Amino acid sequence: MTTQSEKLFARAQITIPGGVNSPVRAFKAVGGTPRFITKADGPYMWDVDGNRYIDYICSWGPMVLGHNNEKIRKAVIEASEFGLSYGAPTEAEITMAELVSKLVPSMEMVRMVNSGTEATMSAIRLARGYTSKNKILKFEGCYHGHADSLLVKAGSGALTLGVPSSPGVPDDFAKHTLTVDFNDLSSVQQAFDEHGDDIACIIVEPVAGNMNCIPPVEGFLEGLRDICDNYGAVLIFDEVMTGFRVSLGGAQAHYKVIPDLTCLGKVIGGGMPVGAFGGKKKILTHVAPTGPIYQAGTLSGNPIAMAAGLSALTQLAEPGFYDSIFENTRILAEGIRDTAHQNNIPMSINVAGSMFGIFFTEEPKVTNYKQAISCNTEQFNQFYHAMLNEGVYLAPASYEAGFVSKMHTLDVVNATIEAADRAFKQITA
Ligand code: PLP
Repeated sequence: MTTQSEKLFARAQITIPGGVNSPVRAFKAVGGTPRFITKADGPYMWDVDGNRYIDYICSWGPMVLGHNNEKIRKAVIEASEFGLSYGAPTEAEITMAELVSKLVPSMEMVRMVNSGTEATMSAIRLARGYTSKNKILKFEGCYHGHADSLLVKAGSGALTLGVPSSPGVPDDFAKHTLTVDFNDLSSVQQAFDEHGDDIACIIVEPVAGNMNCIPPVEGFLEGLRDICDNYGAVLIFDEVMTGFRVSLGGAQAHYKVIPDLTCLGKVIGGGMPVGAFGGKKKILTHVAPTGPIYQAGTLSGNPIAMAAGLSALTQLAEPGFYDSIFENTRILAEGIRDTAHQNNIPMSINVAGSMFGIFFTEEPKVTNYKQAISCNTEQFNQFYHAMLNEGVYLAPASYEAGFVSKMHTLDVVNATIEAADRAFKQITA
């Protein structure tokens, strides 16, 4: 039963655009009524009608410890006893910067912000200011938040200047963003052949998580590093999604490719609105107030967010933390795929740490955007709703990665695979 969610959705649409504060929550890709959530605990969320779901969105990534983690909750309550925000420096901010630097050593200096979008937007301004170059290079299908210069898609043709992907982004902004193919170094080299003297940075999700889940092919990240070195461009890893999720040190630790700048978000806040950017000291010292490149934030580094984030990162840094979560992610993805095949449904999977992607496709391996968007969305939508009815909450669009938390135990994972078997049997497309 979803009566209460339906009522709330109707009411929400009167005063909130589309009824939601972030578009994907409106279920437009899959249809139906978004579930209005009242509480979450461990691997589960409950909606306003009392339905329980195993949650594989994990608040779009942050809840790697599971929902309502007791230590984070206590840290937030304790910090709140002393006031919510001061707009002045605190020791907790230093402890946070020191911990981030320790866990992600390429981040020699760190600036806290309030979201992933702020982190990428600021890192790009820094790269442009530092290099005195204008253009940036990104990859089709990668998402870096909703700043103007990043809401840009490829123009038609192999390599063209970007075109805005949203009204409100002037063509004049978009033309400074070059968009090329993920996992295709030749398209990157071609862009640098033509515009190399004016490209400030490459920004990349080292594991793409916004066109489902697509890890880098061998040599791709290394190739980006070399190209940046050859042309004096800044390499930015957008680890908003992969940071503290693909491994404790992020994708850069896993793939052993070191960027100049890193953007963090999601997990770093333990559920509070937090982001960060950082990297080489020689670049970060160009940020105000030590340097001329302006960046600021009224609530940046606020004590409640720092308390939540510090508690989360401290727990993640415990030895062996990731072992069971990586193992369970693999078991889950392989289990869903094998069950799909038993039901004669073509499927391939990708797994990166505690991120996974399931693709309704005959392709044995999905490594690029074109493959990702040619998957069978009708089958996905049917599967999505069947799983929702089974009490499994997947991302409501086929282009989103799935996330597993520490609280998704083997029992929870096995229950999900059994639910998937029943769901596959309902697919008619
Ligand atoms: N970068 C990546 C890789 C993301 O996945 C996201 C959000 O999903 C962002 C940046 C933007 O982060 P936020 O939504 O916190 O602004």
